[in-house]
Amino acid sequence: NKQILLKDYVIGFPKESDMFLKKTTIKLKVPEDSPNSILVKNIYLSCDPYMRNLMSKSEGSYIDSYTPGSPITGYGVAKVVHSTHPNFNKGDLVWGITGWEEYSLIKSPETFFKIQHTDVPLSYYIGILGMPGATAYFGFYEVCSPKKGETVFVSAASGAVGQIVGQFAKLSGCYVVGSAGSKEKVDLLKNKFGFDEAFNYKEEPDLNVALKMYFRDGIDIYFENVGGKMLDAVLLNMKIRGRIAACGMISQYNLEQPEGVHNLFCLTTKRIRMEGFAVFDYYHNYSKFLEVVLPKIKEGKITYIEDITEGLESAPAALIGLFSGRNVGKQLVVVAHE
Ligand code: NDP
Repeated sequence: NKQILLKDYVIGFPKESDMFLKKTTIKLKVPEDSPNSILVKNIYLSCDPYMRNLMSKSEGSYIDSYTPGSPITGYGVAKVVHSTHPNFNKGDLVWGITGWEEYSLIKSPETFFKIQHTDVPLSYYIGILGMPGATAYFGFYEVCSPKKGETVFVSAASGAVGQIVGQFAKLSGCYVVGSAGSKEKVDLLKNKFGFDEAFNYKEEPDLNVALKMYFRDGIDIYFENVGGKMLDAVLLNMKIRGRIAACGMISQYNLEQPEGVHNLFCLTTKRIRMEGFAVFDYYHNYSKFLEVVLPKIKEGKITYIEDITEGLESAPAALIGLFSGRNVGKQLVVVAHE
């Protein structure tokens, strides 16, 4: 069983050498002292920005840090190869939190979702039909409460979450602008995902000026993925009673000291509602989300781009790539072919 382990807690920008590969042998059966467990063969593993936060020694985080010397964990799509749990059978396809390894023993599989619809790519269950999709759906519809005709800004807009938020905004009749870090990504936003406008934030000398150009009358909804300077510029451009969904702040995850935000008083002057949320609080409504989004994918009303890396050995580089914007679309790793 090949595994990727965390070497030690990470400070600053993560490096490939913060993780290492180890080979162990395992029996392809749930051990007798593990009732209600499943052994899975991992097929796809997901690289997600929150995993960087688990590489730091935890201080008030909402999820426990990784343990140095133990396998990295994260979302994955897997096949059950042996089960002692009454709800799971050999051959079931599932998604949930698994290990960065070929086979994982899952001792509490109750948090896993069984995959019922296999007429879409299986990898979608760690993308548009999994955690990032649910983040976009509940974050946009429940936290932002969009109305037809409103103006929406999405940062990290071509990524796993952002590309879906933009398409939901268009389906809701909103005007939507996205920011991303390369020309290729900006082109995708406009030509593939149907954003009304998009810009490369790395080429804008003044983000406030750029936002004013795209939002002459201000922003109703900001779907926040990056934080830092972008948040500061957005605050200056929000409309009265605008909403900000604080989904994530990736620009801060590798900093030893988070940057200060200077324009927070805009929350008061403009009566803005800024709300943080965590997708796992919404998982009880997963089936409702699936009922809405699955048909939209099948009817071609919504599209999804993945950045697929081959092989467990390549997973550390793929994860680190999220923080330099190397990924184009949802970053995932193929560990085994079904
Ligand atoms: P992405 O697929 O968008 O990958 C990360 C992207 O972030 C990169 O490709 C890069 O794109 C951009 N980025 C990296 N570093 C910086 C930086 N310093 N400044 C600005 N942009 C940067 O990731 P996801 O869509 O999976 O995640 C997006 C956000 O959503 C993250 O903040 C994540 O933590 C959050 N999240 C929150 C959840 C929740 O429950 N609240 C659940 C899931 C995700 P570019 O080239 O455009 O710079």
